[in-house]
Amino acid sequence: MPTILRETYPTAKKEHRCEFCCEKIAIGQKYVRQTNVYDGTIDDFVTHQECKEVAHELRMYDDCDDLGLDGESFRENLNAYVYANHYDEHTDDVYTSWQLNHYEIAKKVLKELKTEN
Ligand SMILES: [Zn+2]
Repeated sequence: MPTILRETYPTAKKEHRCEFCCEKIAIGQKYVRQTNVYDGTIDDFVTHQECKEVAHELRMYDDCDDLGLDGESFRENLNAYVYANHYDEHTDDVYTSWQLNHYEIAKKVLKELKTEN
């Protein structure tokens, strides 16, 4: 795993792209900025707060390799969750209400997990 040097929660002064869901982080939105060091290289990892939260809730960090969780695995994990929980046998696809971009899915999953508990 990369070593996390620091984690901050700034407000976006310009648009960023979330490295987990690939959707944009809007100006004025609070987001997560992690500064990591890996193999002597310092790198910033920028995500939505919700994307980071859902990654923890779905325990995505448990089975990732030593490079940490990347956007591709994040999106695969989300898709797997939706397929497992919101699959419609009649249309042989996930329910249309779940055919969203990954940021919207992340927020919806979080809401669902919170209602369950
Ligand atoms: Zn995101």
